[in-house]
Parts: sequence; structure tokens; C-alpha cells
Amino acid sequence: MSRGGMIDILFLTYSFIITGASILTIAFAIYAIRKRSVVSVVAFGLWMAGSAGWMISHQVLLLLTTPEQLLWSLRAELFFQVIVPPSFLLFALQFTGHHHWHRSLRQFLLFFISANTILWGLLNGFTELIWKNLAFDPANIFMPVHFSFGPMYSVFWVFAYISMIIAIWVFYRNNRLRGKIYQRQTQILIAASILPPLVNSFYLLFPQNPIGFNIMPIGVGISGVMIGFALFRYQLFDLPPVVYHNLIEKLQDGVMVVDSDNRLLYINQNAANVLNIDRFSIGFLLSRLLPDHSPWIKILNKDENDSVEIGIPNGIEQHYFEIDYSNFPVSASRSEKLIIIQDVTEERKIRLAEQTSREMAEVRAMELDVLRKIAEQLNQSVEMKDVTSVGLDAIVSWVGARFGYVVLSNGTGRPYIAGASHVPPLVETTFKRFPYCPSCRSFERFMKGEYQEPVAFMPCPILDEISISFPGLISIPLHLGERQLGALTLVMAPDAVFSGDEIRLLQTIGDQYSAAIERARLFENAEHLATVDSLTGLFNRRYFFQQAQTEFMRAYRYQHAVSVIMLDIDYFKRVNDTYGHMIGDQVLEQIAIRCRSILRVSDMIGRYGGEEFVILLPETDMDSAYTIANRIRLLIMDRPILTERAEISLTVSLGVACMAGDYDVRLEQVLDHADQALLKAKESGRNRICNWHDPFTKGGLFNQSL
Ligand code: GH3
Ligand code: MG
Ligand code: MG
Repeated sequence: MSRGGMIDILFLTYSFIITGASILTIAFAIYAIRKRSVVSVVAFGLWMAGSAGWMISHQVLLLLTTPEQLLWSLRAELFFQVIVPPSFLLFALQFTGHHHWHRSLRQFLLFFISANTILWGLLNGFTELIWKNLAFDPANIFMPVHFSFGPMYSVFWVFAYISMIIAIWVFYRNNRLRGKIYQRQTQILIAASILPPLVNSFYLLFPQNPIGFNIMPIGVGISGVMIGFALFRYQLFDLPPVVYHNLIEKLQDGVMVVDSDNRLLYINQNAANVLNIDRFSIGFLLSRLLPDHSPWIKILNKDENDSVEIGIPNGIEQHYFEIDYSNFPVSASRSEKLIIIQDVTEERKIRLAEQTSREMAEVRAMELDVLRKIAEQLNQSVEMKDVTSVGLDAIVSWVGARFGYVVLSNGTGRPYIAGASHVPPLVETTFKRFPYCPSCRSFERFMKGEYQEPVAFMPCPILDEISISFPGLISIPLHLGERQLGALTLVMAPDAVFSGDEIRLLQTIGDQYSAAIERARLFENAEHLATVDSLTGLFNRRYFFQQAQTEFMRAYRYQHAVSVIMLDIDYFKRVNDTYGHMIGDQVLEQIAIRCRSILRVSDMIGRYGGEEFVILLPETDMDSAYTIANRIRLLIMDRPILTERAEISLTVSLGVACMAGDYDVRLEQVLDHADQALLKAKESGRNRICNWHDPFTKGGLFNQSL
């Protein structure tokens, strides 16, 4: 190949490299500026544009021939050249967080020398200040222009060197301060920034240019390409490292980076405080930095991508940390581990407090629910037998007891089992015999109000001994104000432990139960008063009628006989007149007792009025009724009645009527018949019995006997 051909190829290669590099550089500049994520991007764009313009104008210069064209091209090259050092310095300053370099006036100051240089280069009479002994040699395809540095140009280059050295130093310092995370970013920036001055130095050292062509633009081009590479590879402008750095330093969390051997690469202040290690001990093994038995050693050596929560004793308190590990590969064979340590002690406290209050609320809701359900059940029962059965069952089941029983005091103050729910049979039999032990007098102690709160023990040691002792037993005193009613004993699960809240709940249940018992007693009393004659204890007239009616209807439906006896004391007025009304009352009481003693349980006796009684005998025909009436008459007549003041002999007259179930009559009618028969007995001389007979079916109206 001829020398000319060789030169052509070289030239083409040279042009190709320069053009390619400038296109890439422009592309990178546009890319970075379009992102516009940070301030330094403008300076970066300027730097890249200067570099690209420099390369292109140099390339254009090589293609021109007339001195006029060459001079203008040289000026264009100068224009772009002078932009590069100040914009690069500005970029370095802004990128590394020197915020005061964001202000416009200072930025312009950096461009002062450059502006001067280009000014003298443009003025026709002063180009000597830039290019001394300017000569053109268009025949030299690589070096068509020759000159030596004019004074202004020298000043510019001194400025350029100083700028680049400052920039390199700024990057280097940044690299050292920020630690390893950003090292690759800054390393490539440093490399890219060293290249152009290095290449330029070649000219300064060898002014004769032994290569034969200007490699400056190539240096600038390669530098541009490297920056571009950094742009994509290390996301140069996503956020400037300084932002990341400040962010991480200011994080409440501890952040650290270790390599695969657990050597410390980076640690922020918070992590250093938590782990209590010197944050400048970069490069040391964690196991050497931490005290020998530090719990952190094991935790930080974990390998997987994961997060764990651990408690670290800190004085008397336990501190809790959540530690998050993430491994990220840095090369094919090595990986680094980012560890984030978050102090979650407070969070945990709040969480625990929340959980506790939520649980408390749930417990309260449950307790209220239990109370409500028990109250509902107890409110349904007004009768004592319901309160002591269904009511107690409700308590036992809602409280979740194994079984329960109620001991109340009877009229004489002795304990009796008023109700039992799910009590094991053996226990029940024993309790029926000894509801409370007479010797330890525990029931008396309950009744004296010695236990104001539920007691979680069997108050009787003797019952305890005969093994009626249960773990989980609790006795709740039942009382209404000062008045003690007895005790409700519940046997819970064997391992039951009663908290203050539960004791209170049980007492509330006990109070509800006491109220229910009292209500049932009042109801019983009221019912008694409403049905029973207070003097004789017999049914009162109203209640007798009510009950008799039912019985009468039943007898009529099944066509069974039912009889009625009317009884009236003979000459009772005399008793009153002789002994007074009080003795008269005692006589009435005694006669009532005597009458009742003869009757069957199914018979019914009521006080009809004054000194008259009425008896209803179910399943009894006239003859049997007569026999019974006669027995009454004889019983009263046979023995005098004992009163406080005298023994009084009395007789009674009785009238008997019967409904044999074979014809349609009403109770009132039968009573009326008995009444008529009684009247007849009185008329016939008293102390006798008269039967009523239907005048149409039997011979006479009355049958009477003495
Ligand atoms: P007889 O029936 O035999 O004709 O004569 P009697 O004296 O019993 O006459 P009557 O039935 O008219 O008198 C009823 C008397 O009973 C009148 C009243 O003083 C008395 N009496 C009524 N209720 C009571 C009471 O609750 N207590 C007392 N002590 N006396 C009563
Ligand atoms: Mg009378
Ligand atoms: Mg009478």
C-alpha cells in the first residue's frame, strides 16, 4: 500500500473515531439533560457539548483548505475547547454536593477566562495573543495548522489544568468520604477527567508532535464515552450520590454494607451507635469490631435475604430491632450485603399496648355478653325453682364452669342445697348430707358476711378432707346489701387462676343471682299471700274457686265423681263473745289443722268466709264424701280445742253435695247444693251432716244423718 493510501486509511479511521465519539457524546448529553433530575446535569451537558463541539470542529478543520476557512474553523474549535474545563469543574463541584456552586454568579466567574480567550481569538488584530506564529499547511492532512501558544492561550491552559486538577481532587475526596458505595461512580469520573489533561500533557512535553496528528480530540472523545458508560452503568444522574449519602446518613435506621467475608464496607452513624463500633473502621471484619460475646455477631452473619426481629438486652430494658438483609452481587464471584437495622422498641411497645387494650376490650365485651345472657335468663325466671335450676345452669354454662351449686339459708338459718348444676352424683350426695360442715361453721361465716368477695378455696377443711375439694373452685357470697343469703360455688377448670377482673365479674354475677333469688322469694311470698288465708293457712276463697274450677272441669271431662263439703262451726259467735276474738282465731286455726289432717294431698280445702270452710274431694262419690265429712265432724267433736285461755268443746255442721260426672252441672251449682245441705243441717239441729240429693232422681231433697 502506498504511503498516500495508508494516510487516507489512517485519516478515515481518525475521522471515524472522532465523529463516532462526538455523536455518542452528544447523545449522552441529550440523554442526561432530558432526565434533568439534578442541578449538575446542565453543567454536564455543557461539558459534553463542549467536548463534542471540539471534536467536530477539529474534524471540520482537517477538511478545509483556504487559510481564511482554517482560521474560522480554528476559532470554532477554540470556542468549544474553552467551554470544556470550566463546565467540567462546575459539574464536579455540583455533583459532589458543593451547593454554593449552584448560584449563577459564581458559575459565570468560572467562565471568565474562557470568555476572554475566545474574545481575543475572534478579534482579528489580537489573534497573536492566542496563536503565535500561526501558519497553515493544508498539505498536511493531520496538522494543517501550526502555531505556538500565545500568552492568553497559555493563561487559558494553565486555567484548564488547574480546573481539571481541582475537579479530579473534588471527585477523589468525594470518593474517600462517601465510602465504597459510590466508588465506582467516582472512579470512572476521575478516570474520564484525567484522560484529556493527560493527553494534552503529551503536547506540552513534546511540542514537536512526534505522532503527526492531534490526539487531543481523541482523548476528549474517549473521556466522553466513558462518562456516557458511567451514565448508564452506574445511573449517574438518577440521584446524585451526595443525595443518597445524606439520605442514608440522616436515616433513623442503621444502615451498613458488608462484603461476603463480613468486612465492614460502610456504616452510617446510627448503625455505628447501635452496634457501638467506630464508624471509620472500614475494611475490618465485623467479628473483630464487635465485642466477643455481642449478640450482634450471630445476627449480622446471617446470609439470606430476609428480615428478623430480635431483642437485645440494654440495661434493664430489652431493645428490639428489626434487621433486614439484602444481598446484591457486585461481580460474578462477589456479593455485598446491605443490612438495615431498625429500632422497633417503641413500635413494639405501642403494638403490645394496642394488643393488650384490644384484648381487654374483647374480654370486657365477652364479660358484658356473659352478664347480659345470664341476666336475660335470670329475668325470665320469677319462681325459685327456675332460679335454682335453669338460672344456675345458665351461670355454669356461660361462665364455663364444670359444675356449680347454690347453698342458701333456710328459715332457721341452716344451710341447704337450693340448686345444683352438672354436679357429679357422688359429690351431690355428699353435699346433700353436708352442704357446709357444721363443725367449721364456714356457712355461718358466710352468713355473718366474713367473705365479702369470692373466695377461691373450699371454706370447709373437713369437706376438703373427704376429698370434696376441687382445684378451680370459687365460692361467691350471695348477699343483698348487708343481708347474707348464702353462697354460689362454681368449680372451674382445674388450672383456673382467677384474675382481679374475673373475681369482679363473678361477684357481679353473684349479685345478679342474689337479686334473682330475692325476687323469687318475694314472688313466692306474694303468691302465697294471694292464695292462702293468713289465719288458717288454707286456700283463700278466691284461690280455692280458681283451683276447684280446674279440678271440677277435669272431673267433668273424664266423667269422674267430685264432691264438695261445706263446713260451718256451730254457735261460734258464742266463742267470740265468751273468750274474745283472739281465742276465736286460735279455734279457727285448730279446726283448720284438724280438717286438713284427715284429707288427702289431692283434696282441697279453703276458708269460705268467717268460720265456714269448703272442701273439694276429687274422685269421690257422695258416700265416700259423707264418710269423710263424718270423720271431720267426729274429730272436732271428740276432743276439745286447746286455746290459751280454755279448752273449748265445739261441734260443726256439714253439707255435702256431689257431681257424679253423669250430668251437666257447674261448680257454683254444686257449691250451692252443699250450702243448701249445710243450711239444712243447721236447721235440723246442728252437729250433723246433710247430703244434697237431686229431688228428681232421688226420693227427697236431702239425706241427713246424725
Ligand atoms: P250457727 O252458725 O251455729 O248458726 O251460729 P254462729 O254463732 O256460728 O252464727 P254465725 O255463723 O252467724 O256467726 C258467725 C260468727 O263468726 C260471727 C263472727 O263474730 C264470727 N267470726 C267470723 N269470722 C271470724 C274470725 O275471723 N275470727 C273470729 N274470732 N270470729 C269470726
Ligand atoms: Mg257461719
Ligand atoms: Mg256458725
